[in-house]
Amino acid sequence: MLQRVVLPFLLVLAVLSGVSAIISTQTKTDRAAVSERSVPTVVLDAGHGGEDGGTVGVNDLLEKDVNLDVALRLRDLLTANGIPVVMTRTEDVLLYDRNADYKGRKKSLDLAARRQIAEDTPDCIFVSIHMNSFPDPRYDGLQVWYSPNNPKSKVIADTVQKTAKAVLQPDNEREIKAATDAIYLLHRLNVPAVLVECGFLSNPAEAEKLAMPDYRRDVAFTLFLAVSEVCRGID
Ligand SMILES: [Zn+2]
Repeated sequence: MLQRVVLPFLLVLAVLSGVSAIISTQTKTDRAAVSERSVPTVVLDAGHGGEDGGTVGVNDLLEKDVNLDVALRLRDLLTANGIPVVMTRTEDVLLYDRNADYKGRKKSLDLAARRQIAEDTPDCIFVSIHMNSFPDPRYDGLQVWYSPNNPKSKVIADTVQKTAKAVLQPDNEREIKAATDAIYLLHRLNVPAVLVECGFLSNPAEAEKLAMPDYRRDVAFTLFLAVSEVCRGID
């Protein structure tokens, strides 16, 4: 498969070009100042968790598990390349206070907690990882949604969607979409925010791929290329 060759090569290239650019143009002090000034923190949000499994694949794959696996892989790539990351969750949990009155409110408390993490993180961009589902099993392909509240959201979404077409899914003709109030977090967050539906668990072929660690690694690497590009470019 082409991607198996191209993706690791691109990773090496990305790392090498970043390192050589830094070494050739900056002193150690400059480097610290630049990274503090220009690299935002990525708040990485693995959708669902715990009691909320998200959608269920035609192969019984649970969305929450795929989301977390892709998010953890993406975190490792970003941090290895000097981009700070805050995770909303690193385990199979929903975020709500076990001592609070959570009956019937777990999901809303969870979303509010994720929103709070983004709002409490200075100079951040928010990237939420999900898997898609649709009654008609023929639909497939990565789809990015963006928050209408911050113009940088659309730039990030566009970069992710184009990178997916370039290195992961050459036949993907999907276009980015502005989130409506149906997507709670994107509708309410004011920081740059996108939600990536990495693939359709309702499509048998795509669900099968998403069950494979190698493919999830390729998805994470695709997101890494796009997110690191926008992080280096955002003031
Ligand atoms: Zn979801």
